[in-house]
Amino acid sequence: MITHCPSCRTDRCSPLFVKNGCHIRSCRSCGTWFVADPPSAERLRGIYGATYFEDRLAQHASDASKAAAQRAATANARRRLALIRRFAPRGRHLLDVGCGTGTFLSVARESYPCCGVDVSADAVAVVRERLGVEAHAGDLVALDLPGGSFDVITLFDVIEHVLEPGAWLRAVRRLLAPRGIVVVTTGDTDSLACRVTGRWWHLMTPPEHLTFFSRRGLTEMMTRTGLVVEHVSHQPVAANVGYMAAKLADVIGWPTRWLPRAVSLLGLGAIDMKVNLLDVLTLVARRGGSDRRESD
Ligand SMILES: [Zn+2]
Repeated sequence: MITHCPSCRTDRCSPLFVKNGCHIRSCRSCGTWFVADPPSAERLRGIYGATYFEDRLAQHASDASKAAAQRAATANARRRLALIRRFAPRGRHLLDVGCGTGTFLSVARESYPCCGVDVSADAVAVVRERLGVEAHAGDLVALDLPGGSFDVITLFDVIEHVLEPGAWLRAVRRLLAPRGIVVVTTGDTDSLACRVTGRWWHLMTPPEHLTFFSRRGLTEMMTRTGLVVEHVSHQPVAANVGYMAAKLADVIGWPTRWLPRAVSLLGLGAIDMKVNLLDVLTLVARRGGSDRRESD
């Protein structure tokens, strides 16, 4: 059982509730929530196996809904790229951590020489074959990439999935060139959506999600790693009605199981929406000047 907050390391943590068999605790100091009894690394590897990305796509009942999901993902990638370009000029080396099958890379490569990393070897194979972009399969911490070689590192909806987020941020810092930036998106436990819905929050999906950061918690972890936070915001996301229905059914369970089918039958699945529940943090941080390294 983990008793200390992964963000600020205090032991002032209390049990909150049990979700999907996982015990969720909250930090009374920084507001981070976390799974106190996380699965083994081996079980996690099982979750992100060959069918992980296929299963996610299968949530979309029709081809129109799948196309709409792809459209929404591309719109999100473009919005993220626009933000990055405010902090890092064009033409510098970018690493997308948790690149999946390469939606963001397919947009980012128009502006930056790109490279991807994902734990899924199948996803990495898709990136290499479909995009012709360099990609590596494996755990960021274990991969032997050259230090100081990236000007931009992105972790979109990744850090909440990993067993040791602190170790991942230290790996990011090692890989960043001086003055390089890291962009992180993840759920925000300070948000009204999280506070009101609690165990039914749409991002409360253990054991896939293991850490639920607050703004303060994530900022503290980054600062401790030698990353200087320069920007925090809640960006809107593009989505479609089919995806929203599938997500709702997934999080709430049987009372809403009929919803995705109803949306599909009514032909509403492909309708695009722009949503901002103000519950997803976007942080941009820059590698600090000193070579101070945190040790555990
Ligand atoms: Zn804390």
